[in-house]
Amino acid sequence: MTAYDPENIFAKILRGEIPCYKVYEDPHTLAFLDIMPRSPGHVLVIPKAPARNILDITADDFAHVARTAHKIASAARKAFNADGITVQQFNEHAGGQAVFHLHMHVMPRTTGVALLPPMSHKETPQVLEDHATRLIAALGAA
Ligand code: 5GP
Repeated sequence: MTAYDPENIFAKILRGEIPCYKVYEDPHTLAFLDIMPRSPGHVLVIPKAPARNILDITADDFAHVARTAHKIASAARKAFNADGITVQQFNEHAGGQAVFHLHMHVMPRTTGVALLPPMSHKETPQVLEDHATRLIAALGAA
């Protein structure tokens, strides 16, 4: 498998070289909005450890990501009054992965509303700011 590339976009977000709409952070993980959301409130959860995907991350670091995704899912349900939540995690090109720092997608869903295709619509800063505010408030109320 290809080695981890520290110049990938999420590594740059972790180092603060590129901004993000942060919704949650702890010693092991960071959660921020996808700027091309497939549903309103689409969050990406990443480990702080430099892992390309599930094939090189340690079980403990993967568990940290799952724990944060679990927290985000329940906040997202409240923040967006969601009927359901879709969690996805892709590995390698063949597995649908486009950014090579492990991430879990957490996407609030509304009955009857399909996910947008991946990377099909760049959301406006105003909407992203509003969605981040809603998620942060729901996380605070948990
Ligand atoms: P993958 O197919 O690798 O699981 O998905 C990568 C995700 O990263 C896509 O949903 C895409 O919209 C998102 N993405 C790509 N570039 C950026 C970026 O610069 N910032 C944020 N927040 N998300 C990004």
